[in-house]
Amino acid sequence: MAQNDNPSWNTRTKLVHAGTRRSQYNEVSEAIFLTQGFVYDTAEQAEARFIEAGPDEFIYARYGNPTIRMFEERIAALEGAEDAFATASGMAAVNGAVMSMLKAGDHVVSARALFGSCLYILEEILTRFGVDVTFVDGTDLDAWKAAIRPDTKAVFLEAISNPTLEVIDIRAVSDLAHAVGATVLVDNVFATPVFQRSLELGADVVIYSATKHIDGQGRVLGGVILGSRDFIRKTVEPYMKHTGGSMSPFTAWVLLKGLETLDLRCRAQAATAQALADGLSGHPKLARVIYPTLADHPQRDVSAAQMEGGGTVLSIDVAGGQAAAFKMLNTLKIFTISNNLGDAKSIVTHPATTTHQRLPDDQKAALGITPGLVRISCGLEDTGDLLQDLRDGLALL
Ligand SMILES: *Cc1c(COP(=O)(O)O)cnc(C)c1O
Repeated sequence: MAQNDNPSWNTRTKLVHAGTRRSQYNEVSEAIFLTQGFVYDTAEQAEARFIEAGPDEFIYARYGNPTIRMFEERIAALEGAEDAFATASGMAAVNGAVMSMLKAGDHVVSARALFGSCLYILEEILTRFGVDVTFVDGTDLDAWKAAIRPDTKAVFLEAISNPTLEVIDIRAVSDLAHAVGATVLVDNVFATPVFQRSLELGADVVIYSATKHIDGQGRVLGGVILGSRDFIRKTVEPYMKHTGGSMSPFTAWVLLKGLETLDLRCRAQAATAQALADGLSGHPKLARVIYPTLADHPQRDVSAAQMEGGGTVLSIDVAGGQAAAFKMLNTLKIFTISNNLGDAKSIVTHPATTTHQRLPDDQKAALGITPGLVRISCGLEDTGDLLQDLRDGLALL
């Protein structure tokens, strides 16, 4: 059983202690139970456990494991969720959340600006199984109102879109969805659990790629689905445990250690993102700087109301287009060119030719993915060094 949990603890205390289970050795750091199976004392005990496993009873690591359970309980405590299910990757979480609750004939409304693989699940896979999916401009409440029908089963959105950082009003969309009894699923990766509590804003289910900020040090793939105990145990768990997208205990251990420093890291990274956004705004070589707290951000008020801060990612639109953007990327000394985000190492990405390469040009244009757009994930390096690196790169254009 988890020891010492206290719902009144504040975030940092929960991140270090919530969900801790100690073995008979009373270890300080969480143990890795790198075991697939568990031994039963008697045949009767095995039978009883297959009928109903108690909170400290495990059957097979695909169903659950003490290290994985610690991770699930710790992040559930942070998010204020009744329960959580840990998955092998962020995409296993998105797939598990939607596939476990939907069936042929159901209707889903989704924001259009989605992570590429999320779009693939909604646009290609769900439709192949007879689910009807309507895509809307997530920032347009009238579009949500027009698309949500009395028979809509679920609503899917990324609270902050990648890479143009549009912010969706979760409370308003949740109200529209709940009026017809639809379930609201939010992919909260960009907002992070530190800066936005989507469940408190009205979401029913929150999904993370733990690969991003929760690991935050570029080591493992992981994901998690959070929601009511009923949804997690009766809908998600049967689907996940039988289809095989569960998290490995080693991954859970790495992510438990990641959670301990999550708040500190995200706040430092967001402070840098804010400083870079401020420091680069109005730069003559940039057509635009995009960051949710800037005065010219179209959903600035929504982000101020639902997010504490602007997050760890900003985007810049280099005025000279792709050639100039590439030239700048190739000259940076501290930033690494990669496609992850939320990492301790600052990372620059050119979405039009990498993460969003496969989108047709008209869709790139509709989503604001211009040839000069560069996504910047701020790491833990010195803010002044990072700003200077970008200024040096831009000065060569
Ligand atoms: C990275 C990401 C995912 C997928 O997560 P993986 O861990 O890479 O499978 C899903 N949604 C968003 C918004 C992401 O950034």
